[in-house]
Amino acid sequence: MYRNILESHAHYDEKCYAPRLEQVLEEQRQKGVCCIINCGSDVASSHRSVELARRFDMVFAAVGVFPLAVEHLPANWLEEIRALSLEEKVVAIGEIGLDYHAGTQLRQQQIAVFEAQLELAKERNLPIQIHDRDADADTIALVEKHRPRGMVHRFASSPQAGQAFLELGMHLGIGPNITYPEFAHVLETVRAMPLERLVLETDSPFLPPARLAGQISTSDMIGEVAETIAKVRGDCTPQEVLDLACANAKRLFAIS
Ligand SMILES: [Zn+2]
Repeated sequence: MYRNILESHAHYDEKCYAPRLEQVLEEQRQKGVCCIINCGSDVASSHRSVELARRFDMVFAAVGVFPLAVEHLPANWLEEIRALSLEEKVVAIGEIGLDYHAGTQLRQQQIAVFEAQLELAKERNLPIQIHDRDADADTIALVEKHRPRGMVHRFASSPQAGQAFLELGMHLGIGPNITYPEFAHVLETVRAMPLERLVLETDSPFLPPARLAGQISTSDMIGEVAETIAKVRGDCTPQEVLDLACANAKRLFAIS
């Protein structure tokens, strides 16, 4: 069994966990998960993240509005996120970023919402969690402009984009997508990146490893991510990967 599994990005406020959330989190603790950063994606889920962090010792919160929520934002969204960011156990602004998967119709709106939260992160001196889907060029340009600290969550981009994020000082959030053949290109980044910039995640409930595709994921599945990383690198054991990623995330998100 592994220990020191730090889940840097998950959504335990999703309805699928609700009937037995307490048991789920207790099972996660027993399976070696030491800490979970629960991430907001809009105002409501950011509130729920803060509530989870209040309720469970092992849970910390990230608050923010992600790009697919920009169309229906309440007028006071930024004030709400700012107020939440002052709460105890809020360790990041996230998830925030750009998503052009369905097209670039909302590009200007997404950029405006992303930049407002990059400013907020700076003002609050908090790291960020970036959601970048099919939007590498604009995301990299905005990271270069604002120079935040933080992680690119569920990193799935090209080795070139990975290199650009690393050069800008970002951490890369590596998750179970590296166990799927269609994300084999991510292994190139994993093989070459400095392990000091590695953080691990499952984006639960959304991303189980390939052999469990279609199921609800949980944070202990990070063990398989660590096994995959140890295998492609050949310079460390899965437990060493977990230990390092845990220490990296604790440093980045100032969790003691
Ligand atoms: Zn997420």
